[in-house]
Amino acid sequence: MYYSFSLRTLLVLSLCLSCGITHAAKAPIAVQPAKADSVVAPRVFVHTGFENASPMNWEIDSAGRILASLVYDHERFSQNRANGHWHFKVEAPVGQEVVVILKNFDNIWNNTPASQISKRSHAVISFDNKTWESRPGELLPGNRLLIRVKMNAPSVYMASVEPYRISDLEKFLTRIKANKLVTVTEIGKTSEGRPLEIIKVGNEKAPKRVFLRARAHAFEAGGNWTVEGLVQRLLQNDEETKRYLQRYCVYIMPMANKDGVARGKTRFNSNGYDLNRKWDKPADSLIAPENYYLEKWLSRMVSENKKPDLAIDLHNDAGGNLHISRPDGDITAYLANMEKLDGLLRKHTWYTEGSTKPSFRNPGTLGEGFMDRFGIEALVYELNYEWVEGLKKVPLAADWVSLGGMLPKVFYDYFETPVTR
Ligand SMILES: [Zn+2]
Repeated sequence: MYYSFSLRTLLVLSLCLSCGITHAAKAPIAVQPAKADSVVAPRVFVHTGFENASPMNWEIDSAGRILASLVYDHERFSQNRANGHWHFKVEAPVGQEVVVILKNFDNIWNNTPASQISKRSHAVISFDNKTWESRPGELLPGNRLLIRVKMNAPSVYMASVEPYRISDLEKFLTRIKANKLVTVTEIGKTSEGRPLEIIKVGNEKAPKRVFLRARAHAFEAGGNWTVEGLVQRLLQNDEETKRYLQRYCVYIMPMANKDGVARGKTRFNSNGYDLNRKWDKPADSLIAPENYYLEKWLSRMVSENKKPDLAIDLHNDAGGNLHISRPDGDITAYLANMEKLDGLLRKHTWYTEGSTKPSFRNPGTLGEGFMDRFGIEALVYELNYEWVEGLKKVPLAADWVSLGGMLPKVFYDYFETPVTR
């Protein structure tokens, strides 16, 4: 049996035999040993150590609530910081109501406070990491968000957007790779060495080409679900899709900011670079390899006479608009095409949010850079992650998959020029 002795010592008074004076002396004493199993696991615990989980600090207050401080994602060489992503797992006894209070939503954008928290802020939760549902949030003073969850199982995943992880992409690529309509090409690597893919669906000799990029910003998983829906629809191999793919070929960069996704970040790549900025000049191969390799691929497409006729950069925000590019020069034809695209999205999908106003400028986005530097008609499509007005609901993955499934018809009508044989 193991006995532990306290390091504390007891002061004892002893009569010194040599001088006859009473001295204080120290002597070790044994105290009651601590039981080896006396450390108890807390009843409520937060896990952030899994794929795409967001870094955060947390503690439990005296009322038993989880106080969670989200960790900011910072941009290199600027004061920009962002917090749109949270994804963690709570463990607590079944039946208990867990209260989580999230803070640190005071974003800075272009050196201006740009808080992301809104009345529609909510959480998506899953007890099995497969089926997700939305839960409303309550705004608290101090730009904080409170979420309540009654534990139906010993653990619950909570996130800002239904997660789409690198492992989800890998499963998706494995599913589609064998199809003869699909080619997956690695065009380069991210800063941390993860492969960057381009998925081609269809025949590259088709008269039109559309390019889509998803996930330039790490938390914006909606684009990933949308391109999954798009590819799945195109691979159904029915008469309709055969007709679509005679008219156009689709190229997709499915996950631009893989490093940010792996680390559960909000916006920037692992070098603190915003992959939807600075498209007005060539990307640095070390700081932004994700953009550098995309530009290289695009230049090759242009030189091989396969320039995309339309490029869409898929994002998530709380607006849901098409962000129309407005570079200098005559863009009359482009604006007419964007109006046509807006109309077709309204006709064939649940999109109702509309396009940005003529006064809106956002230089440096992929939309503007593609137009200015490559002569490609391009835009940014922000999928609203808080509310889909056309469906009157908080969007979940299935809603974006269904949107993606409707896009092939949109593109077919968009490229309505008769096919020459
Ligand atoms: Zn974005």
